[in-house]
Amino acid sequence: MTSKKHSIPSFATRAVQAGIPKTDPYGAVHPPIYYASTFRQIRPGEPLGGTEYSRTGNPTRWALEEALGALEEGKALTFASGLAAMDTLLHLLKKGDRVVCEEDVYAGTRRMLDQVFAPLGIRVEYRDFSSEDAFSPLPPDTRLVWVETPTNPLLKVIDIARVAELAHRSGAWLAVDNTFATPALQQPLDEGADFSVYSTTKYLSGHSDVVGGAIVTRDATLYERLKYLQNAVGAVPSPMDAFLILRGLRTLHLRMKAHSENARKVVEALRDHPRIRRVYYTDTSPVAQRQMRDTGGMVSVDLQGDFETVVTFLQRLKIFQLAESFGGVESLINHPARMTHAYRPREDRENRGVTETLLRLSVGIEDPEDLVQDLLEALA
Ligand SMILES: *Cc1c(COP(=O)(O)O)cnc(C)c1O
Repeated sequence: MTSKKHSIPSFATRAVQAGIPKTDPYGAVHPPIYYASTFRQIRPGEPLGGTEYSRTGNPTRWALEEALGALEEGKALTFASGLAAMDTLLHLLKKGDRVVCEEDVYAGTRRMLDQVFAPLGIRVEYRDFSSEDAFSPLPPDTRLVWVETPTNPLLKVIDIARVAELAHRSGAWLAVDNTFATPALQQPLDEGADFSVYSTTKYLSGHSDVVGGAIVTRDATLYERLKYLQNAVGAVPSPMDAFLILRGLRTLHLRMKAHSENARKVVEALRDHPRIRRVYYTDTSPVAQRQMRDTGGMVSVDLQGDFETVVTFLQRLKIFQLAESFGGVESLINHPARMTHAYRPREDRENRGVTETLLRLSVGIEDPEDLVQDLLEALA
């Protein structure tokens, strides 16, 4: 896929180098974990190292934020989870403001809008941004448009630049949940989005061992307001979590390349398989070819048969583990209708293609031949 020009240093160099402390007294080449809740002050109100308290600022978290910001040539703030990042961002809104949200988003995103913010007076509307209808003008009270691309689990690709234009025409911000693609494959801020939002739990940390979230923006005023909210709301990551996410980030570019290569091999093996009804992958999307640098590690497949056929298939798998979440080095498989998307009414789910026979694969970075063999043997 197309590669975009970026300022020197390149993405890989920034992923490996950004956030390395230049002033560490021992010359540590990776930021230490600063497990201190409070910091000494030289005079009242003058903290020695720029932070007086770890909710307000922590050097390990700063190193992670510097690195994440560098990956998108913006400024990053990190949070205790992806949903904590979203919650903090939604605090930019006030009662009576409207959020126009892509309908096919992470379950917790809809839950937060419908069950937490709507009762507080935020208006919420859903649109299908893969259809033309979605591009009719936004109501004038729209303050924020929220999309996720590629979508979960049907890997629908949304044209970020086009949604950014729609949002900005109404004076609304655009937030893109970039958890699926990661900044290695997609740069929402380059496409005109105001915020890239992440669950760092997934590919960014990459090892299924930490829960975290982040927001990246290039707007200095919005950054300052969000930084204020980060402290005022208080949903910050622990120093250990910041350390783990930063360590994962160092290999993001390599992992995303391997995830994408392995996913393409899985797709190749399954696309014309007689026991597979349909394969969903980003490689068929013209928008993805422009907007993404590679195809990514997420694949969904609809199996022939019924729910029991699917259960048999899942039980025969030896490498792919049945679990929620995605984006770790190990291959996982998920049954959206009964796991991540169980909250949606059955008819509504099935109309959208989330059937009892749909499975979502997070293709890991094991040997691709072993992965393909595991799937083919379980299908046989
Ligand atoms: C997991 C996920 C979230 C929520 O993140 P948490 O870290 O679980 O709070 C948000 N959006 C997407 C796309 C996700 O996959």
